[in-house]
Amino acid sequence: MSDCPHVSALPRPEPVPLNVTCPGCLAAGTHPVQLRLCLVCGNVGCCDSSPLQHATEHFKETGHPVMRSFEPGESWRWCFEDGSIV
Ligand SMILES: [Zn+2]
Ligand SMILES: [Zn+2]
Ligand SMILES: [Zn+2]
Repeated sequence: MSDCPHVSALPRPEPVPLNVTCPGCLAAGTHPVQLRLCLVCGNVGCCDSSPLQHATEHFKETGHPVMRSFEPGESWRWCFEDGSIV
């Protein structure tokens, strides 16, 4: 855990997921390994173990810094700006 200024800037309550799978993978025909949820806009992307790493791509495109795991039973958040769990 770190003192991340990006978390306190997130909308409350959390955004509702826009998708239940990674739309980038759906378009490309690839399969996400795990899903990640953008906590700024609710976009769903796939993790860095997935072929196309759409969650990271979403951050590069939008600058939205904080995502959380969208896997059942997982609730950790990752801040791209800080490069750590927050
Ligand atoms: Zn941060
Ligand atoms: Zn993807
Ligand atoms: Zn976003």
